[in-house]
Amino acid sequence: MDIKKLTIKEAHELLTKKKMTVMDLVDAVLKEANSANKNLHAYLEIFDDTRAQAEIAQKMIDSGKATLLTGIPLAIKDNILIKGKIASSASKILENYRASYDATVIKKLRNAGAIFIGRANMDEFAMGGSTENSAFGVTKNPHDQTRVPGGSSGGSAVAVAAGMALGALGSDTGGSIRQPASFCGVVGIKPTYGTVSRSGVMAMASSLDQIGSFGKTVEDAEMIFDVIRGYDPMDSTSCPDVMTKIKTKKPKVIGVPVNFVRAKGVDPRVLKNFEASLEKMKKAGYEIREISLPSLDYALSVYYILVPAEVSSNMARFDGMRYGYHANGTNLLEDYGLSRGEGFGREVRRRILLGTYVLSSGYYDAYYGRACALREVLRNDLDKAFKEIDILATPTAPTPAYKIGEKISDPLAMYLADIFTVPVNIAGVPGISIPSGFAEEKGVKLPLGIQFIAPHFSEDTLFKAGKDFEKVRGF
Ligand code: GLN
Repeated sequence: MDIKKLTIKEAHELLTKKKMTVMDLVDAVLKEANSANKNLHAYLEIFDDTRAQAEIAQKMIDSGKATLLTGIPLAIKDNILIKGKIASSASKILENYRASYDATVIKKLRNAGAIFIGRANMDEFAMGGSTENSAFGVTKNPHDQTRVPGGSSGGSAVAVAAGMALGALGSDTGGSIRQPASFCGVVGIKPTYGTVSRSGVMAMASSLDQIGSFGKTVEDAEMIFDVIRGYDPMDSTSCPDVMTKIKTKKPKVIGVPVNFVRAKGVDPRVLKNFEASLEKMKKAGYEIREISLPSLDYALSVYYILVPAEVSSNMARFDGMRYGYHANGTNLLEDYGLSRGEGFGREVRRRILLGTYVLSSGYYDAYYGRACALREVLRNDLDKAFKEIDILATPTAPTPAYKIGEKISDPLAMYLADIFTVPVNIAGVPGISIPSGFAEEKGVKLPLGIQFIAPHFSEDTLFKAGKDFEKVRGF
């Protein structure tokens, strides 16, 4: 059994046909995880109760109560609460914080019999695109350990790519599932806003955050999504099932915002791979239609105003008093300043400052107000486009994985790398990244990804198109 190639679907068959026990599978994953973690640092912690979890799952199988995920080892991003476990969001301020309840997604996975292997590394509070902003050290790309795995859910993507879990949960506010999936050569889906409960995930920018899944194949990512989705009264932005659980027709027309895709800074190898991927979809019977969506050009600016604004408000709860890191000053105000100044890393502090600025009374209308208005324009433009096309396609990221340290001192360069993923969160629609090939770099093959985007609640369309693409992509 090659754990690096084993899919959830295959593992499920082996388990239910009794060709393998849950313990065998968990042991195989743990062996890989423990040895690879020294170099890759995908996990901040590998749990010590995995064998006890395996026993429960085995009982479910033996009593005929297995679900598709029973006994399946998963990596969980460190901003998702698992009762009794540390949940730090890779921040010093929450280094020793223990979750007092299960996130809704965790409850659902637990009921399905899934096994939680460990806490996956991430950019602090999900702010970043390389996992370099973790307070506990960077995660490395398994395809080339001198390169970043992407982020912010870098640990989750690496765990799946390197056989340290069969699937994973991440969160995606502006690309944090899709971009690391693309950099590491796995599938990642960001569902429609409101489809998966956010109860028990630490908020970064609440109007854009969504939990989603990673897998080696579209089918694996879909199997996890099917378990975690659904209405939840604990999340006031959760949508009723009648709205979200819809079956769609087979997609036929792929729209390509050509001018946007050919924007400055897109690596020529990425463009070439993207065009070749579209050509393959054409041969598979899809129509490729060029479309113009001028409002996409504003997406990055809108995102980097809205997100810091929401971040500055969400981070206010970390005051060093009720829980988390505390530093002593000479009075209460100094306690706050020192606790937050020492507890938060540079990127988090940068966004709190930026967000406080765009929300301040003198600048609110000029920045935050305008960004909100443009968000509506973008949403309407996409709705209009989806009357003509079934899905939209772009590369997932403008470049393959870059070197560790290459962009860390230039936040703007890091932000520009989010160009293709942020419009999806601004509009609240679903997006998926699927491995589409490789860029050669001094003999090393670096993974590339294609992104498909669908109308609200049309995850089903993405899975259909994604599976078609997997059949024709040629590897
Ligand atoms: N890279 C983006 C950012 O830093 C996206 C982060 C995310 O999706 N959590 O904001």
